[in-house]
Amino acid sequence: GPVIHWFRRDLRLADNPALTAAGQNGAPVILLYVHDDISAVDWTAGAASNWFLHHSLENLNRDLLPYGNRIVFRKGSAVNVIRDLAVETKASTVFFTRCYEPWAAEEEKILAHELKASGIAARRFGGNLLFEPESLKTGSQQPFKVYTPFYKAGLKQLQTEGIRPRPEKLPAPANLPSSDDLRSWNLCPTKPDWSTGLAENWQPGEQGADAALENFIEEHLNRYSSDRDRPGIKGTSRLSPHLHFGEITPRSCWQRTLSKCVIENGFPSQGAEVFLKELIWREFSHHLLHHTPDLPSRPFRQKFSEFPWRKDEDQLVAWQRGLTGYPLVDAGMRELWHSGWMHNRVRMITASFLIKHLLIDWRQGQKWFWDTLVDADLANNAASWQWVAGCGADAAPYFRIFNPVLQGEKFDPDGVYIKRWVPELGNLPAKYIHAPWLGPENVLKQAGVTLGKDYPRPIVDHAAARNRALAALKSL
Ligand code: FAD
Repeated sequence: GPVIHWFRRDLRLADNPALTAAGQNGAPVILLYVHDDISAVDWTAGAASNWFLHHSLENLNRDLLPYGNRIVFRKGSAVNVIRDLAVETKASTVFFTRCYEPWAAEEEKILAHELKASGIAARRFGGNLLFEPESLKTGSQQPFKVYTPFYKAGLKQLQTEGIRPRPEKLPAPANLPSSDDLRSWNLCPTKPDWSTGLAENWQPGEQGADAALENFIEEHLNRYSSDRDRPGIKGTSRLSPHLHFGEITPRSCWQRTLSKCVIENGFPSQGAEVFLKELIWREFSHHLLHHTPDLPSRPFRQKFSEFPWRKDEDQLVAWQRGLTGYPLVDAGMRELWHSGWMHNRVRMITASFLIKHLLIDWRQGQKWFWDTLVDADLANNAASWQWVAGCGADAAPYFRIFNPVLQGEKFDPDGVYIKRWVPELGNLPAKYIHAPWLGPENVLKQAGVTLGKDYPRPIVDHAAARNRALAALKSL
């Protein structure tokens, strides 16, 4: 009988050990993708993520044309769909790439069990991470809770050799099982179609991922260590959605970065080193999620479970829409809404603003990001929100409260980023662009800005909000 390759978040042909193994089997390969909006329960994919997924699948299908094969699209609970298809086609083996969300790990166990009961083999492969979460342990055989020792332990066992090219063959079965029309899943918005901004910014699929890496290495890598903090310029790789969907592997990123970066005194340039460290932050998040499955729902540090969060729907909405009156926060939230992505520095500032200035529960922010980011990733999102909230593993201390005005002056000194995303402030001189309420009346007038009308006044006062946040912390 044939074998099945179950595509999950390994939407690529190159460096895909599971797919390669399926192709090497000699039997016809059924390529399956299951749209499952049941198994993830609270964490079914959000709207922006679904848009990306749709185009990634479409492009993967196109890349399969030369193999004379294509993806069978089916909908339902993945375990049931796969078991039924395997029985229906008399498949001998199901190949797949491991995922690390707690629900996905559970699903893998159930699937293996169900297949076994029908005499079908399940073969699971890694490939989406540099290190399997069980493979790194502290000296006392515990999971890591601190980044730097994790990083050091990782480097010791890092292997980036043997990256596999695309499979030579993926022969289609004589009769392809029936498939849904991908479009019938309605992963893309139609009425209204809000995806123009996403389409302008992203090229989903393996080719888009390769192009993003290539462009980054050629144009930005050597300046990465300084440019990465400047939201007004393209200083980072924008690989995050590609990595999330497995259109490219961290091993490929690592290997290509090292092979192309400037080597100084036998060491990779600083830009390369800092970039590789970011890839390891991704590993660290996955390690944390694997060992702490309730990371998205509970503070890693117990004492924060008693935190006195405020409920304030109006302020939450002002934050979501980019109408807080703090230009850097608003620019970030609007960048997110428009493009499905936000610069990392601004993610930290907007998240901090929600948590500390507004005292709104980090889980509310996590949820909003989940729905609006094209790179929404359970491990990275949960670990990062907890990091900002000060309740995570190896987190920023809670009492360190970003001042959005100073952050703007430091990292967007000319206000380029603000002007792009908050155009109503476009004519303000850089001196006032991060704190328009401090601008003299005639300057505001000349720039055509009436506060409270063209642009909101700050919804909270920084100093007062800061004191309130510190008092809340003290109450724990
Ligand atoms: P680069 O700077 O080019 O970094 C390369 C890669 O390293 C990224 O693509 C990403 O995979 C990884 N990486 C970088 N920074 C981090 C980090 N802090 N933690 C984990 N991995 C990292 N990242 C997501 O992929 N999905 C999320 O849902 C997500 N939510 C976040 C929420 C908050 C509140 C914050 C502060 C950060 C979040 N991040 C998330 C991490 C980070 O902001 C993004 O990975 C990064 O901005 C993506 O842009 P890039 O690919 O250009 O990054």
